[in-house]
Amino acid sequence: MDFTPQQAILELGDSFYDPVAAARFPQTILRFRNDRAAAQVGLEGLSDEQWIAHFGRFEPLKGSLPTPLALRYHGHQFRVYNPEIGDGRGFLFAQMRDDKGRLIDLGTKGSGQTPYSRFGDGRLTLKGGVREILATEMLEALNVETSRTFSLIETGEELYRGDEPSPTRSSVLVRMSHGHIRIGTFQRLAHFQETEAMERLVAYVLRQFYGEEPGEDAPARLLAHVAERTATMAARFMAAGFVHGVLNSDNINVTGESFDYGPWRFAPFWESGFTAAYFDHAGLYAFGRQPEAIYWDVMQLAIALRQIAAEEPLIAAMEGFADVYQREVTAALLWRLGVAPRSAEADRVLAGVLEKALAETLTPIDQFFFDAFGGTLPEEYGEAFDDLRGQLAFYQPRKARDHGYWSGAPCSMLIDEVETIWASIAESDDWEPLHAKVAAIRRMAEALGGSDKA
Ligand code: AMP
Ligand code: MG
Repeated sequence: MDFTPQQAILELGDSFYDPVAAARFPQTILRFRNDRAAAQVGLEGLSDEQWIAHFGRFEPLKGSLPTPLALRYHGHQFRVYNPEIGDGRGFLFAQMRDDKGRLIDLGTKGSGQTPYSRFGDGRLTLKGGVREILATEMLEALNVETSRTFSLIETGEELYRGDEPSPTRSSVLVRMSHGHIRIGTFQRLAHFQETEAMERLVAYVLRQFYGEEPGEDAPARLLAHVAERTATMAARFMAAGFVHGVLNSDNINVTGESFDYGPWRFAPFWESGFTAAYFDHAGLYAFGRQPEAIYWDVMQLAIALRQIAAEEPLIAAMEGFADVYQREVTAALLWRLGVAPRSAEADRVLAGVLEKALAETLTPIDQFFFDAFGGTLPEEYGEAFDDLRGQLAFYQPRKARDHGYWSGAPCSMLIDEVETIWASIAESDDWEPLHAKVAAIRRMAEALGGSDKA
């Protein structure tokens, strides 16, 4: 397809962003280009040199934004309201349409300081960039709506960080996603009581991401959409065994697309208290608390929207969250188990016994879903799995185990492997394990093939 540049964000007006300039980096070494994602927006034909000019030096893409924009937002961080945040090490670089006609943002991480950097250097460590590639590829394969990692370029600076041996290498990442409007974008407008701007933002999100004209009850309809999409995101996190780590309201996109990967981890076992971020002392964003944490964030959106809407329709919109979560966690577990749905009631029972067996036995999650895909449990799964086996007898596979992936071993993304992949880069500048892993993940995706909604 042809590259189709857009500038939709500009219609919101300049109180939503600050024009900024990218840092000038001493080096720009291309480490990862996502040609699959690029093909969806007509950018796969760029030479490496052109790629680096756009995604390392941020020369504008013709017809898109003339200058990068640091987006303004606030948000609750670990439940404390912070009015001082915003794009502090990133900006919106470009907008465009994809091959399905949808509005796409290319945003950055590590592109330099902005008015919102506070005491930060505006930079991203190379390790942070590599980790974001791994998280996004794995989540996409496991049927979680996520931003994609579009580009990673090493930038030749030395960074100092408390959580990495320092000095450490630097990078700039480009992320592709359906907008960068966060719950915190609405919270900021509520904070300043900018009700007209909030109405404009509601209209923008409904039109651009939900294909609806604003009109009657627009805020409540928007809230209902956000509740539905974020409940689905929470459900799919669970089935993927994924722990995001920092589910602050500034990290929740109103499209319900997961993004902004920092201290994430995949859980080895079905342990509700498993926590990703070393600084999350209370376990606020632990594995099993994610649905509740995301619900809390969506409630902050409801509170912000209260400035332009009556209470009752907003409450009604929030009520959808729990039901959608139940339905979607069931669907996501069945999808990963590789069985076709039967009826809402039977499926819910199946999902329940599955979660119970995994939690009680602390069976390794990835191995289990690998072995059980298609619905036949190998004999070594003992008594604790009897209920599950009984339920599975009524189910048909949703996909045959005929892909070569099924005769190998499960593809996982546990912390030891992440560290091993990074160590090859850190110690011997060997990028082969990273590229091999991305290929292995994409192969797993083929084997799991197709979403439950397809
Ligand atoms: P995050 O935890 O990545 O969602 O970031 C929370 C806030 O801190 C956002 O406003 C970021 O832009 C900002 N921030 C994080 N790291 C840096 C950094 N190295 N330099 C400047 N701002 C940062
Ligand atoms: Mg963030």
